[in-house]
Amino acid sequence: MKAKITLLPGDGIGPEIVDATRQVLEAVERKSGHSFTFSTHLIGGIAIDETGVPLPDDTIVACRSSDAVLLGAVGGPKWDDPTAEVRPEQGLLGMRKALKLFANLRPVKLFRGLESASPLRPERLRGVDLVFVRELTGGIYFGQPKGKEVRNGLRTGFDTMVYDENEIRRIVQLACDVARKRRKRVTSIDKANVLATMQVWREVATEVAKKNPDIKLDHQLVDSAAMRLVTEPASFDVIVSGNMFGDILSDEGAVLTGSLGLLPSASLGEGKLGVYEPIHGSAPDIAGKGVANPLGTILSAAMLLRHSLDLDEDAKAIEAAVQKVLDNGLRTADLSGGQRSLGTTEMAYAVIAAIEGA
Ligand code: NAD
Repeated sequence: MKAKITLLPGDGIGPEIVDATRQVLEAVERKSGHSFTFSTHLIGGIAIDETGVPLPDDTIVACRSSDAVLLGAVGGPKWDDPTAEVRPEQGLLGMRKALKLFANLRPVKLFRGLESASPLRPERLRGVDLVFVRELTGGIYFGQPKGKEVRNGLRTGFDTMVYDENEIRRIVQLACDVARKRRKRVTSIDKANVLATMQVWREVATEVAKKNPDIKLDHQLVDSAAMRLVTEPASFDVIVSGNMFGDILSDEGAVLTGSLGLLPSASLGEGKLGVYEPIHGSAPDIAGKGVANPLGTILSAAMLLRHSLDLDEDAKAIEAAVQKVLDNGLRTADLSGGQRSLGTTEMAYAVIAAIEGA
């Protein structure tokens, strides 16, 4: 397998964790005989500093002509002014738009040995292994009309929640495809008891389920799903939802494991090209110190192999290697509770050793 991978380190700890992850991918290359070509491009604050824009044209060209994109993080205090016309996160949004990425995947898996990092009791956490599939480009965040105006002398804000059947069909189908490689269960989140948009959502989701008879799809209202996520998180396999509900529930899901530095994500579109990144930000407080946890980015690389390159076995090898280093008691500072910890590069080397030893 030959593949072109675009690296977008971005800001803060981005360059450190992306470099560590590139080394892990090179270990996969050596072990499996694949050939990956890496090219590095600008995005975010550093791109603003060097080119004046957060997403230079050559970055878009490079992403479009590659098989997959691995991103670190963007942003930091230097560019944090919310009123500035040019901001780092415009780079991310612009890239999702340019690459037509409509789905965000966030797996939440509890790694053995990290139970104590979670705010939940260990018995509630046993077996947690779920994936959020969130619609990324539609719904109330983008629906028109939206605005602020004075109505009858009162300041009034309004937004529009809108989904057409094509948008619903493609995200629910993607969730079924994801479930097919897992435990084959999809929970579709809606608010069909109140919102017309969500009645259409439920209707279309039911139709998609009929076309995927090997997948068991159930429906759940967003409010009760929020409760079930903390009371029985292990009962979920794949959770599919619209943009806003997914935004909220996936952050609730992220705290289940208690370890921000360990969670990967993928943004996908119609084709195989995807953008893979850890869910955390650029962590400016620890940037440049060599102590950032690279595992969220390394696990994002596993998702890259699985979803963009169809290299499921290699993805599993990375995930098993991460579990192995954790089983061996190795921790970066964010998870060590003040005990001895590894730096970013040392942690990546430990994962590489586990891959090579497997
Ligand atoms: P953050 O995720 O960067 O950091 C929150 C806390 O978690 C910090 O204490 C940080 O040190 C720690 N942390 C995060 N990742 C870690 C890792 N890999 N290893 C060890 N510790 C880690 O969130 P924030 O502080 O709210 O945001 C910082 C900047 O990142 C802001 O400019 C924000 O806009 C940006 N941001 C970017 C993205 C993205 O690029 N997708 C996402 C969220 C925030």
